[in-house]
Amino acid sequence: MRIDGNTKTCVLLGDPVEHTLSPVIHSALAEFTGINMVYVPCRVKAEDMESAIKGAFALNILGLNVTIPHKEQAIPLLCETDKLAEKIGAVNTLVRMNDGYKGFNTDMPGLCRAMKSDGIRIQDENVIVFGAGGVARAVVVMLCDKANHIYIVNRTIKRAKEIANEVNAYVGRRVAEAICLDEYVLIPDGRYLAIQATNVGMYPHCEEAVVNDLQFIKKIHTCYDLIYNPEKTRFMQLVEKAGGKAYNGLKMLLYQGIIAFELWNDVAITDEQANLVYERLRKSL
Ligand code: NAP
Repeated sequence: MRIDGNTKTCVLLGDPVEHTLSPVIHSALAEFTGINMVYVPCRVKAEDMESAIKGAFALNILGLNVTIPHKEQAIPLLCETDKLAEKIGAVNTLVRMNDGYKGFNTDMPGLCRAMKSDGIRIQDENVIVFGAGGVARAVVVMLCDKANHIYIVNRTIKRAKEIANEVNAYVGRRVAEAICLDEYVLIPDGRYLAIQATNVGMYPHCEEAVVNDLQFIKKIHTCYDLIYNPEKTRFMQLVEKAGGKAYNGLKMLLYQGIIAFELWNDVAITDEQANLVYERLRKSL
């Protein structure tokens, strides 16, 4: 790739950023679309976020990604926030406007697009969401309009209850229910889509699973584990052993990047281009 006077620059602000796979996604997208753009990760401390965003604007930076721990903190520093990002309470993509950056959340549309590409439907599903952290909260917000019922299963029940109360008030019905991880057996018999949004099973703790009970796991017809390292978590292995389908979080990562790239460059990435980037991502794991 040739950097010249027309090269557009996008950056990632996070702390840490050393292990990010986003440069792989954006470099590949720039290459496959022929768009002259570079993507650079920048480690930025929380107290420097305001000057980093102002500085990026002054430097004519086209767009930014924002990652842990700045996704919530960035919102007051923006000129505008997209409705979905506002509802989720976190941004991961900033798009340059005339008077500052507009914040978007492409994590959840990314998960939706990944699920769609794998043929997984959400409409009227009964869903079990494991976890009640930042990502699980966003997942429940995304699901609450479409799913029939959502069980939020978390080690710390208080966090699960907070999310359930919030979305139930928003939707106007008892769509979500909090369950303590120790009490997962309380979930009634049925066929469930499960979204695994805890850290359990992430490298290097690959032998761990959020639940190990095969009798229970048989209720899961499809599992989306948001972890992508390892490629197949122990939980995914258990779901497959019990007869269900299992997918990891790599496509969610891919599509959150693709949607950010589309927003920055006003282009539509084709399925063929997405597949090429996906293969490159897999190789870089
Ligand atoms: P977070 O806010 O720190 O939340 C972590 C969640 O994991 C909490 O619900 C926590 O339960 C639970 N947990 C942690 N250790 C546990 C243990 N030993 N036993 C039971 N539960 C445990 O993290 P996050 O930002 O939401 O991220 C969650 C997951 O999503 C991570 O695995 C991350 O890799 C994945 N992720 C994937 C993508 C993607 O693009 N694929 C993007 C972002 C994140 P407590 O509330 O009880 O502490």
